Amino acid sequence: MRVTVIGAGVVGACTALALVERGFEVTLIDQRERVAEASSHANGGGITPLHSEPWNGPGLAGSLLKYMGRADAPWQLPPQRLPGLGRWGIRFLAQSRRARFVANARANIRLGLYSLDRLRDWRERYAIDYAQTTAGSMQLYFSRPAFDRALAMRRELIAGLGEVEPLDAEAVVAREPALAPVADQLAGGLFYPTHESGDAAFFAQGVAEEAERQGAQMRLGESIRRIVCDKQQLTAVETDHETIPADACVIAAGPETTELLRPLGIRVPIQPVRGYSATFELEDAESLPALPLLDTARRFVTLRLGERGLRIAGLADFAGHHRAIPPARMDVLLDNARNLLPALADHFTPAAGRLWAGLRPVTPDGRPLLGATRIEGLYLNAGHGPMGWTMACGSACALADRIAGRTPEIDLLPYDPSR
Ligand SMILES: Cc1cc2nc3c(=O)[nH]c(=O)nc-3n(C[C@H](O)[C@H](O)[C@H](O)COP(=O)(O)OP(=O)(O)OC[C@H]3O[C@@H](n4cnc5c(N)ncnc54)[C@H](O)[C@@H]3O)c2cc1C
Repeated sequence: MRVTVIGAGVVGACTALALVERGFEVTLIDQRERVAEASSHANGGGITPLHSEPWNGPGLAGSLLKYMGRADAPWQLPPQRLPGLGRWGIRFLAQSRRARFVANARANIRLGLYSLDRLRDWRERYAIDYAQTTAGSMQLYFSRPAFDRALAMRRELIAGLGEVEPLDAEAVVAREPALAPVADQLAGGLFYPTHESGDAAFFAQGVAEEAERQGAQMRLGESIRRIVCDKQQLTAVETDHETIPADACVIAAGPETTELLRPLGIRVPIQPVRGYSATFELEDAESLPALPLLDTARRFVTLRLGERGLRIAGLADFAGHHRAIPPARMDVLLDNARNLLPALADHFTPAAGRLWAGLRPVTPDGRPLLGATRIEGLYLNAGHGPMGWTMACGSACALADRIAGRTPEIDLLPYDPSR
């Protein structure tokens, strides 16, 4: 059976490998010249299933109002963008009700945990190297009430699924000595021993190479023009080079999934939410934090990459499909990093870093769209929002099982694209 995968980001690359492992004849297509050149390119690098909840939790509306119009905000939602969000925006707000949020979060956490299991399996089996760390991750809090609230909520979200270690400021610094200069500002931290990190693009490239080694055909630099159907049955995909006959097709086109489906009359609720990163190569490796650190309130992460690399990533701007990097937003991100890691502050200048902007493909309930569409043979694996790498391997394996007619190891109902 011939299966075409559209999109060679981390989700599409994993889908191609999972399919080829199950004996399908796979073609992986991307308009870019290389694997993982779009949203998966220089992201925050966290494999963090125990905090893979959607962003729209209780208090969302208040937070949006609080930050509206503020240049240093972790979110930016310019008023002129509001009408464009339409129904998606209303659903996004509605899903922030506590009960909905908890259900959405637990669905993502289950998928994330399954995904981590699959990622470890591939890493061992195929010796994929991607500047990985496997020593856990830490969420930081700078006010006692925020820390207490976060801990209570985290315990509820991960009950029966995983463990978190609450740490006071002293214990945070004992685990991550790079935070010593800000010890007096810290209220506490949540340490997740099972979390991992690395370079998502290297990982996706390693996975795609393995898929190719096992027989998948790579077609990079080729853009999809049309998904061809006969009545309600998929028959081919048409690129700007040629028409490729297919028995099945998985769309893993991240934020562009919506446009690919529109001509077929299938509407999916994915909005691009832009974030940024800056990657530095630093000489003074001893002062680099070893653990991935997440400052939830300011919505940014720091990530060690190899011996001397450090990435700062984050912020969330509703800015449509544009991938520009407004200098003022990069300044906010770098200022956050300077405050968190003052010993390294002088290094964090735009000129010294490799700067990047990416679009998170966000659904209103924060769960990915994973499964069949109403067109026979057409499947989706898209809309993973801020946690695409964390959920990529599991999404791919579960969907590939489904296409192969096997029972997936996790229940796919919560991610059904028609929900
Ligand atoms: C700042 C930032 C930090 C993040 N940090 C993390 C993190 O720490 N952990 C985590 O798990 N996730 C993180 N994410 C989210 C994660 O990066 C995304 O969820 C993930 O990359 C989405 O992958 P994807 O494969 O679905 O999309 P993409 O990587 O965008 O891949 C889609 C591909 O489809 C191709 N395509 C689209 N249209 C067509 C067409 N017509 N023809 C051919 N090809 C097409 C594109 O070229 C692209 O390569 C972060 C995101 C951002 C922006």
